[in-house]
Amino acid sequence: MKVKTLAIIVIIIAAGLAAGLIWYFYFGPGAKVVVVMGTSADFPPFEYVAENGSIIGFDIDIAKYIANKYGWTLKIKDIAFEGLIPALQAREIDMIVAAMTITSEREEVVDFSIPYYNASQGILIRAGEPDITKIEDLYGKKIGVQAGTTGENWAQENLADKCEIISYPRVYDALMALKAGYIDALILDEPVANYYSKTDAEIVKASYVIETGERYGIAVRQGETDFLGKINAALREMFETGYYDQLIAKWFG
Ligand code: GLN
Repeated sequence: MKVKTLAIIVIIIAAGLAAGLIWYFYFGPGAKVVVVMGTSADFPPFEYVAENGSIIGFDIDIAKYIANKYGWTLKIKDIAFEGLIPALQAREIDMIVAAMTITSEREEVVDFSIPYYNASQGILIRAGEPDITKIEDLYGKKIGVQAGTTGENWAQENLADKCEIISYPRVYDALMALKAGYIDALILDEPVANYYSKTDAEIVKASYVIETGERYGIAVRQGETDFLGKINAALREMFETGYYDQLIAKWFG
């Protein structure tokens, strides 16, 4: 009788412990937080698809650093740039790390981290074509841009009555159009123009740089202040410890 009671007590305690552990690791503070990052993986060296199929780049390393700091499991979703903010709002992703410029229009629908990179707009043309040294050189040309970007906005505001502007969801489609002669120039963030001009012999960067003075931020849903605070703390830590400079050397050196 005594042994039986003892056995029952032991079983009850064991079951309780098991339930507690299951709760702790699946639902409680020990649960792994999964953070889904959205990016448009056509923007080297910020984010692009490596030969082995994995998505790599400066932004990916930044997101990995943030996730590691808090023990989050990082997942990456590749979405055409113009679809990133809708995906964030639809909760398909939790943050956008995509060389996204902080703009007042975007700030109406998302919250941005502290800025982590500065950029302007560059212009790609086919190798062997006359250089573009001023805005007037663009007039009358067919201009490609990526849909939903600040480059597209700039072109619409400054060239709409002078040029035909063609928007492409993906940068690699715009590059193909440029090489095929379907467009004459491609406007995109200068660091990415630099990358493509160095890695693709068929295209060069024009000397005219459109000084837009943009700053990139990580976007989250509005009101997610705890999450954003953690992202900002991790970014600050990267700046202070020199890890940020290491990443700059790795991807832009
Ligand atoms: N920085 C630009 C923007 O925010 C382009 C970003 C991109 O194409 N990934 O619109």
